Amino acid sequence: MFLDIGVGILASLFVAHLYGLGLSLAFILGGIFFSLLMDADFVIHFAKGGTYNTGYRHRNLLHYPLLYIPIGMVVIGFFNHSWAILFAICSFFHFVHDSIGVGWDVQWLYPFDNRHFTLFYRYTSPIKEKLPRQFLYIWKHEDIDALAKRYGDEHWIRNMYFKLHPYALVEYAVFIVSLVVLYFYI
Ligand SMILES: [Zn+2]
Repeated sequence: MFLDIGVGILASLFVAHLYGLGLSLAFILGGIFFSLLMDADFVIHFAKGGTYNTGYRHRNLLHYPLLYIPIGMVVIGFFNHSWAILFAICSFFHFVHDSIGVGWDVQWLYPFDNRHFTLFYRYTSPIKEKLPRQFLYIWKHEDIDALAKRYGDEHWIRNMYFKLHPYALVEYAVFIVSLVVLYFYI
């Protein structure tokens, strides 16, 4: 989440600069909002009785880049181009972020292919068997529940974000950098 917020701030600065816009609070908040928006399906996941443990399943509603980004861009672009570009950049980096580390993937090619893609690194339980290190993991949709059970960590929030796991440190670092850049930009 901290990384998404940081990326949202940096993206709003970049797009404002690109379009020669005066930077407004609304645009910065818009970047943060777009960077978190697709995780709204997490709320629905909880409303249906889901838990943090099965949190990866929330990505079954809005986490489809090939559908979500073009549809969102068309809808927003109808009103404003710079906001549509901001939406696309923030959404793209959220999906890249979700493809590395936490959760179980992003279905990058859905609806043409329902396999799940992970890049570089997938966080797993510190007390369970390790995943082999790979540059790219591709998993079948029907295997995700079994993978989560075999490698997943039910205490991932505590073990990553409160115990300063390197992945969490990167997230915090990007967030702090975005605040520093913002301070010098305005
Ligand atoms: Zn997400």
